[in-house]
Amino acid sequence: DTLTIGELAKMMKRPASDLIKKLFAKGEMYTMNSEISYEKAEEIALEYDILCTREEKVDVIEELLREENENPEDMVSRPPVVVVMGHVDHGKTSLLDAIRKTSVTSREAGGITQHIGAYQVKAHDRLITFLDTPGHEAFTAMRMRGAEATDIAVLVVAADDGVMPQTIEAINHAKAANVEIIVAINKIDKPDANIDRVKQELMQYELVAEDWGGSTIICPISAKTHEGIDNLLDMILLTADVKELKANPNRNARGLVIEAQLDKGKGPVATILVQKGTLHVGDYVAAGACSGKVRAMLNDRGMRVKEAKPSTPVEIQGLNAVPNAGEIMVAMDTDKEAKDFAATFISEGKNKLIEETKAKLSLDDVFGQIKAGEMKELPIIVKADVQGSVEAVKQSLSKLSNDEVQVKVIHSGVGTISESDVALASASNAIIIGFNVRPDATAKSTAEHEQVDLRLYKVIYQAIDDVERALNGMLAPVY
Ligand code: GDP
Repeated sequence: DTLTIGELAKMMKRPASDLIKKLFAKGEMYTMNSEISYEKAEEIALEYDILCTREEKVDVIEELLREENENPEDMVSRPPVVVVMGHVDHGKTSLLDAIRKTSVTSREAGGITQHIGAYQVKAHDRLITFLDTPGHEAFTAMRMRGAEATDIAVLVVAADDGVMPQTIEAINHAKAANVEIIVAINKIDKPDANIDRVKQELMQYELVAEDWGGSTIICPISAKTHEGIDNLLDMILLTADVKELKANPNRNARGLVIEAQLDKGKGPVATILVQKGTLHVGDYVAAGACSGKVRAMLNDRGMRVKEAKPSTPVEIQGLNAVPNAGEIMVAMDTDKEAKDFAATFISEGKNKLIEETKAKLSLDDVFGQIKAGEMKELPIIVKADVQGSVEAVKQSLSKLSNDEVQVKVIHSGVGTISESDVALASASNAIIIGFNVRPDATAKSTAEHEQVDLRLYKVIYQAIDDVERALNGMLAPVY
């Protein structure tokens, strides 16, 4: 299966001549019509700093990582990758522990539990991969780097507490990432558990239970008594079936760094979630600016393994340095290619990419983008001191939508602008509007670092006015 340089350039929204020049500078000769493999295209897209914005980078990489590019005959179904989200104390950690305990088969029971950032369990002889870091912060931090790791989000809501601010946040983070949400109503063993009340509350967020005429899978569970957990796993598998998750296991591995650190004895170790292909001991790999040869691989039970197939998390040893979480890992045919990849990433791609991907949307360039036809939706996060103001700002903003662009409030809430709000804005390229609230210290520094446009107002009409002016190209620049 191949594509031409011309087609790749189109995908990258760059003139083919740029691409050809870049490749020529590297000593590789191509013309518009040269046929290259999808793997080669992926390398080119990853290596070069031809991609300007984060969106473009994600688009192209996703386009290339997408499985349609593979021969359908090579595609084999792969386990779903699941993340657990929800309000603090609603039972995310307990659920992850309960799932791990209930589903470790006797054969594997001897293994020592290793916390490598992800684990796999077996249900009906099928595997499910769980990312072991609960909470949407980790999830959104990955997205901020342009990495899409998960297929399904399990939203944990305590039956005695109901929908809380971080529940709403989690819903909005999952929706912004286009991830399928399965609701787990937890703590049903508690006397004051009220499942119907939670279902009722969830309806406000377009999560309507199937038995109430909606399409959201809602599973009552208890992470304490383990009631309902088997059913939850079944529902995850069902959702995976609907999504027809597949990958080609017979190619060089591609994956994501889930977490990484320097181990005193082993040197740099990184947990890799293999997304496609198979990773083997002995493979030459690059992860961002790091490279090396996979010296040893451990699975989530601390056992040595020789290979890892799609959706499998493994801890690898052998990299020359510690990569960042969220970085893409690629396996190459030779040591030189892996080193080159890492070097290119450092010299050409990485810094620029990081700088450029940080150039986030600002209200000031909204008009230009609309005119260039690059913007159909203006995502906004609204935070205010009281619920009344949140609703007022939301409604007025939505009314600003016109034929060219839809103003979309992707998240809103009462209270200080938090780091999580900024992370969501960064990952979704949204603007934050604060009304009578301020960012906390970490939110402020993250916003600066990620170049998120964060605007604070004391009068509602001024906020609305600014957005309206931005949409019409009338916004006076701020000096
Ligand atoms: P997290 O902050 O979402 O990770 O929540 P935790 O898993 O730490 O749970 C918070 C508290 O709720 C802990 O004291 C748990 O023991 C308790 N808890 C979690 N799940 C259940 C449950 O199903 N039933 C009951 N009764 N308590 C639970």
